[in-house]
Amino acid sequence: MGVPPDEVWGRVALRFGPRTLTYGELAGAAGALAARIGEAGRVAVWATPELETAVAVTGALLAGVAAVPLNPKSGEKELAHILSDSAPSLVLAAPGADLPPVFGELPRIDVDARAAGPVPAQRAADGDPALIVYTSGTTGPPKGAVLPRRALATTLDALADAWQWTGDDVLVQGLPLFHVHGLVLGVLGPLRRGGSVRHLGRFSPEGVVRELNDGATMMFGVPTMYHRIAEALPDDPELAKALARARLLVSGSAALPVHDHERIAAATGRRVIERYGMTETLMNTSVRADGEARAGTVGVPLPGVLLRLVEEDGTEITAYDGESVGEIQVRGPNLFTEYLNRPDATAAAFTADGWFRTGDMAVREPDGYVRIVGRKATDLIKSGGYKIGAGEIENALLEHAGVREAAVTGEPDADLGERIVAWIVPADPQAPPAAEELADHVARRLAPHKRPRVVRYLEALPRNDMGKIMKRALADV
Ligand code: ATP
Ligand code: MG
Repeated sequence: MGVPPDEVWGRVALRFGPRTLTYGELAGAAGALAARIGEAGRVAVWATPELETAVAVTGALLAGVAAVPLNPKSGEKELAHILSDSAPSLVLAAPGADLPPVFGELPRIDVDARAAGPVPAQRAADGDPALIVYTSGTTGPPKGAVLPRRALATTLDALADAWQWTGDDVLVQGLPLFHVHGLVLGVLGPLRRGGSVRHLGRFSPEGVVRELNDGATMMFGVPTMYHRIAEALPDDPELAKALARARLLVSGSAALPVHDHERIAAATGRRVIERYGMTETLMNTSVRADGEARAGTVGVPLPGVLLRLVEEDGTEITAYDGESVGEIQVRGPNLFTEYLNRPDATAAAFTADGWFRTGDMAVREPDGYVRIVGRKATDLIKSGGYKIGAGEIENALLEHAGVREAAVTGEPDADLGERIVAWIVPADPQAPPAAEELADHVARRLAPHKRPRVVRYLEALPRNDMGKIMKRALADV
């Protein structure tokens, strides 16, 4: 990411709880680490939500060595897969971090956040891999997306343009650091601007209040975090006041339910803006800081990103009618180069004319705003001759006072092809809303053919560590 300009050398770059590093200190620690990494081909990073993870990744970037962030909450089987797939020559970890036996004899370097060494001359080129990040595994086993340095730089600069993001911004976030959201946007983003990031270690609405009251200007979060905020707001006037102070509240990694967006707007006067991205593409679209934050939309393509909607037969949808659904396909310098060791999956992910198939389905509104309908694989229900997006039914269900969480899937049906199934976590487990009542509630808001045919009640929805609903797992509940 290069060396920050001289004028920021003394400024705080990173704050994790009580521990801080200025730009000068970060450059020293990362420089010292870069010298120790040396010529390693590839390094794994045990990505705990700590200062050392930020130093480790910065050090690898300075060394020009690709870093593979690992989720410390992964099971042994998943870690074994990632370690054998990515074949790192060593692992970077915070001193004292307890690595599971699956690491075997892999050499380990303890990251010293207080070390001081010179920043090495950069040898890596734009197209060299900066990070290999494994996808969230929502639709299948995680794949290692190889992200070139160019992709990181261009996506962060495009976001800076869209969000008017500068070195004066102070970001508060509590995201995991093994994923592009928390790591690329949430740590490398502020560093590229010469601003600072305050990481909460573990997300809490109280931590957000504390940091926003102490000068933070922006917050990044996943929808489950904004859901917790929306739930806490009615009893917490301090939270509402603090959020009202933020310059920018940004959500991503999954769709932000309209109900949560509206509740936060009503209580704070601030609208959360959504951006849409993927591990493979980094960021594709966003609501702009000076644009209208419309609930349920992810804004417009970022500078440099080409985006098109394509029907199943390959025809491009040119209508901005808010109705014609197509797969989002993108091109641009923000894209990954390949899935590690998966030439088959890489080839399948691109069209013959070089566009990346995101697998996400969307419509475009008349002013160009993209509205994601859901994933092709799990969120598009073909029922009674209609193609129905799960998302709008989920949004309608969440507006019912008796519903805390909702997920909608399709399952085979002899008459309809597929029938709509609603999975509901009731607000009050003792008094769940009746299936008929929920179906009527949906039919009144949307259309009769969108009413759920089956309602199943759960104590919680299966979610991964990013808070994403694992629809694959619903079938096995
Ligand atoms: P896997 O590819 O392993 O199945 P995954 O797709 O969840 O997992 P990620 O790369 O972390 O892995 O997530 C990208 C996906 O997240 C996108 O394809 C899209 O479906 C979803 N997503 C991200 N941001 C948004 C958003 N703002 N609104 C709706 N969906 C979003
Ligand atoms: Mg994916």
